[in-house]
Amino acid sequence: MEYRIEKEKCIYNMSANNKPVLMVPSGSTVRFETYDCFEDRIQDAGKGIENIDWEHINPATGPLYVEGARPGDVLKVEILDISINDHGVMAAIPGSGLLGERIEKAEVKIIQIRDGQAVFNNSIKLPISPMIGVIGVAPQEDSIPCGSPGPHGGNMDNTKINKGSILYLPVFVEGSLLAIGDLHACMGDGEIMVTGVEISGSVKARIEVIKDMNIKNPMLEDEENIYTIASDSNLFAAVKKATEDMHEFIMKRLRLSFNEAGMLLSAAGNVQICQVVDPMMTVRFALPKIVLRDGSNG
Ligand code: CA
Ligand code: ZN
Repeated sequence: MEYRIEKEKCIYNMSANNKPVLMVPSGSTVRFETYDCFEDRIQDAGKGIENIDWEHINPATGPLYVEGARPGDVLKVEILDISINDHGVMAAIPGSGLLGERIEKAEVKIIQIRDGQAVFNNSIKLPISPMIGVIGVAPQEDSIPCGSPGPHGGNMDNTKINKGSILYLPVFVEGSLLAIGDLHACMGDGEIMVTGVEISGSVKARIEVIKDMNIKNPMLEDEENIYTIASDSNLFAAVKKATEDMHEFIMKRLRLSFNEAGMLLSAAGNVQICQVVDPMMTVRFALPKIVLRDGSNG
């Protein structure tokens, strides 16, 4: 059986105070319908930025209460499928992103999705690679806007959170209160202009509570890699946090000394950028799974 949450049931802040819109047992499959990050308000390039309601930005569908989830547990979210609409939107916003101070006028661009490609213009077509920008649980703090990332997940804008990947989120409140939004048809690492190809759609996920895993920040796995994910207002501090989390994980998992685990990460691990345009920047530390296969049960 598949549960479903309509996109009108959405939140703008992740918080323990949000009322759950659905309760499900651990192990359930749920489809989250999602708005784009502008709440689907920009449908043609003529009606642009002025249509954005900045109070209702980055809506996330939910929150979902997962029975049995308690603070200290981990929520395992398997991304079974991501489907996207037939068009997305991008924006150039003065003052925003790495080129912001040189953007003279606001502009939006509607991007059609055709035959598995995002039609950027008549000559440039990009292969789509649907991913989730915002996915998180209620944080330890009172309330965090859906546009911000943190230990609870949130706006990580991580291109690796896509179909087939498995996300692990620390649980801070009973039921976890999972919410998902901000899909991108494709996005470059860094998201330098603050928008990927922003698009509405839906995410089908299998959600399970795990009791015997201990993490402080989100972790992810896909076919090739395991990842630690960390966010900070200082990019270097984010890199250090993600590295320390992976180091700790690998010391335990492979029973390596401090130095040996460090050398292994230095030889085989990759520091990668998720996004550098939100108040908190997000990075991931990727470690190829082949390293784990020599261990006990990789
Ligand atoms: Ca985002
Ligand atoms: Zn987005």
